[in-house]
Amino acid sequence: MVKPLNLNIDDTKILRWSDGSCGNSGCTDEGCCCAVCALPIGVSEDDPRWESHDPDCYGCDLCRDSVPFILFRGEGKNMKQAAFHEACFNKILQENPK
Ligand SMILES: [Zn+2]
Ligand SMILES: [Zn+2]
Ligand SMILES: [Zn+2]
Repeated sequence: MVKPLNLNIDDTKILRWSDGSCGNSGCTDEGCCCAVCALPIGVSEDDPRWESHDPDCYGCDLCRDSVPFILFRGEGKNMKQAAFHEACFNKILQENPK
């Protein structure tokens, strides 16, 4: 559920690059939170809101936030990544017109 992207984006807009995230939705670890707003990305699997959620749904706020956008920088051992909420990522894109 990760979309790897390779875009030329102004690094200064990104608060934090990390060595990687654990991939758990809603994780509050530093490396897993949004690199822009620093809030957890996604909703953890035991959140009660999932109980009334339609498994075929792909468009509500719960679903949208569970898919982080990931940017990669560097290669091999020096590779860093930054994860974003879709909305935060779009904000950066808008501030960095091609
Ligand atoms: Zn984590
Ligand atoms: Zn965010
Ligand atoms: Zn949904």
